[in-house]
Amino acid sequence: MRALRLLEWKTEPEIVEVEDPHPGPGQVVIRVGGAGACHSDLHLMHDFGGDTLPWGPPFTLGHENAGWVHELGEGVTHLRVGQAVAVYGPWGCGTCARCQLGIEIYCDNPAGAPVPGGGGGLGLDGGMAEYLLVPSARHLLVLPEGLDPVRAAPLTDAGLTPYHAVRRSWPKLAPGATAVVIGVGGLGHLAVQILKQTTAARVVAVDTRREALDLATALGADTTVLAGGQAAEEIRAATHGMGADVVLDLVGSDDTLRLGAAVSRPLGDLTLVGIAGGSLPFSFFSQPYEVSLQTTYWGTRPELVEVLDLGARRLLQPRITTVGLDDALDAYRRMAAGQVEGRVVVVPTS
Ligand code: NAD
Ligand code: ZN
Ligand code: ZN
Repeated sequence: MRALRLLEWKTEPEIVEVEDPHPGPGQVVIRVGGAGACHSDLHLMHDFGGDTLPWGPPFTLGHENAGWVHELGEGVTHLRVGQAVAVYGPWGCGTCARCQLGIEIYCDNPAGAPVPGGGGGLGLDGGMAEYLLVPSARHLLVLPEGLDPVRAAPLTDAGLTPYHAVRRSWPKLAPGATAVVIGVGGLGHLAVQILKQTTAARVVAVDTRREALDLATALGADTTVLAGGQAAEEIRAATHGMGADVVLDLVGSDDTLRLGAAVSRPLGDLTLVGIAGGSLPFSFFSQPYEVSLQTTYWGTRPELVEVLDLGARRLLQPRITTVGLDDALDAYRRMAAGQVEGRVVVVPTS
C-alpha cells in the first residue's frame, strides 16, 4: 500500500510503498476512512529533531484516525469486520493505573507502551495510508450512529484536545464567565463549539486571520478580536474590564502567552495547548492573582466517548476539506500558510 511517511527529521513527508499490515494477537487492522492533518505534523516536519522526543522517523503520519475494521487479530471478539470505528490515539501500556482509567496519554509505564509517549502517526505508523495497524483493540471506539469516519477522524484530536482542556475548566465556566480561544484553526474552531455546547460562558475568539474570525462567529463566538496591538484592550473591554475566566492558547507563541496572561481574571485558568514554543515568565506579579497556568496534552478515552457523542448529535460540526493522499503534502503547506479553514482530512482510498 502507499503511505505518507516522515522519513527523517526536518524534512517533508514522502509517499512511499510499504507492506500491508496484518494484526497479531489482540491487534486490529482498520481500513482508514479519514486521517486528519494536524498542525503538530508541521512541528514534526520542521521543528523537532535529535533527542526532543523518545521516538523518531521513519513512520507514517496521521494521528487523527477513523475507519472500518478490516482484519481482527486472534482473541479480538467484540468487534466485527466492517464496523466503523474511531482510534483513541495515545497508546500506553494498557495495564498501569492511568491506562486502566483511560488516561493512556499519561501512562505511568511508558517503557511498556508500543512506543513511549506516542502512538500511530507519532513514532509508530499512522493513518495516512490505506490500512492502519492498531496495537490493541481497546484503542478502538465503535462510532455512534450518525457519525462517519471522515467526520470522526478530526474529533479524535482536534476535538478531543480542546474538549479535555475545556472540561477540566468547567467549574470556572459558569454563567457570567468568559472564555477566550486564541487560534481558530483545526482545534480552535472545535473549541468554540465545545464551549458553546457544554458551558454557558461567553466566548471571545482571537486570530490573526479575518476568515478564521468569521468562522468563529458562524460557529457561535460572541466576540471576535483580531490578534495584534489592541487585542488585550478589546478583550478586557468585552469582559467589562474584569478579564477572562479561562484562556485557551491554541497557538503557544510568546505573543499569545503574553496576551493570555494580560487578559486573565484573578482565579482564572490559562491553558497552553499550542506548541509554537513560546514561554511566559512566572513570578508573583507576572499574572493576576491565583491564575493557574497549565499545559494540556490530548485527552482521555472516556472523554473521546463524550466527544463522539457530541459529534453524532451534530452538536460538534467539524469544518472539513477532504483530500486524497497525493494532495496531503499540499494541504500541509496550505495549513502552514494559514490557508486552511477548520481541518483537512486525508481520505487515503479516494
Ligand atoms: P491550525 O494551523 O489549524 O490553527 C492555528 C490557528 O492559529 C490558525 O487559525 C492561525 O491563523 C492562528 N494563529 C497563528 N498565530 C496566531 C497568533 N499569533 N494569534 C492568534 N492566532 C494565531 O493548527 P491546529 O491543528 O489547530 O493546532 C494548533 C496548535 O496546537 C499547534 O501548535 C499544534 O501542534 C498544537 N496541538 C497541541 C495538542 C496538544 O495536545 N497539546 C494537540 C493537537 C495540536
Ligand atoms: Zn494533533
Ligand atoms: Zn500505562
